[in-house]
Amino acid sequence: MNKTILENFLLRHGYKSINLKAVLFDMDGVLFDSMKNHAASWYKTVTGLGIECTPEEFYLYEGQTGRQTINQLIQRGFGRDATDQEKKEIYAVKSAHFTALGLAPVMPGARQVVHAVMQAGLTPVLVTGSGQPTLLNRLNENFPDAFRSDRMITAHDVLHGKPHPEPYLRGLEKAGVAPNEAIVIENAPLGVRSAAAAGIFTIAVNTGPLSEQLLYQEGAQIVLPDMSALAESFDNFVHLCKETHLR
Ligand code: CA
Repeated sequence: MNKTILENFLLRHGYKSINLKAVLFDMDGVLFDSMKNHAASWYKTVTGLGIECTPEEFYLYEGQTGRQTINQLIQRGFGRDATDQEKKEIYAVKSAHFTALGLAPVMPGARQVVHAVMQAGLTPVLVTGSGQPTLLNRLNENFPDAFRSDRMITAHDVLHGKPHPEPYLRGLEKAGVAPNEAIVIENAPLGVRSAAAAGIFTIAVNTGPLSEQLLYQEGAQIVLPDMSALAESFDNFVHLCKETHLR
């Protein structure tokens, strides 16, 4: 992480500094190593509908709500929009397959990042396209006292899922901060696009099979290989924010 990246970001957005107060965390592929199970359960569900797909393509849809993914696939398969009933039923099938795969482990390094955020006196906020009750329930268990229920944006709280900026804009509201008072930690191209459109400095962790170039293209300022690498450099980044001011 270097000063030039930060200065370029400030210049482009007309911010004087990043006065860091909150960290907005995506969940799947960031806090939990759950994307393999999501991709496998989507693949099984969609193949069962008679629509051709690959497990890998679901990494490209990651971040948007299940309703949006279902609509896209029904359009592709049957040339029409999905009904509300279908969205509900198909998401229920996908959720059942996901649950049957068992608990996804906590992402290595995630606890250390959350710990560093709290040690630095910053407010953690969850911003996820998921509405998966199993994972949401596990947040408290695995990250005690970090993600308060009034500091969470889930699939149930937004009209437009990622890549629309609404989820991250709502996350800023929950934290009571401006775009230059927060950063986002994301792993998915559509999630990065959402955060970038909300005007927030975005650190991507490339925990899936896609190329890091995709994450830069969508607007990530920094791309790291995983959460452990972020844990190692987080304090340094906070320090860099404090000492970087444009005139
Ligand atoms: Ca994600």
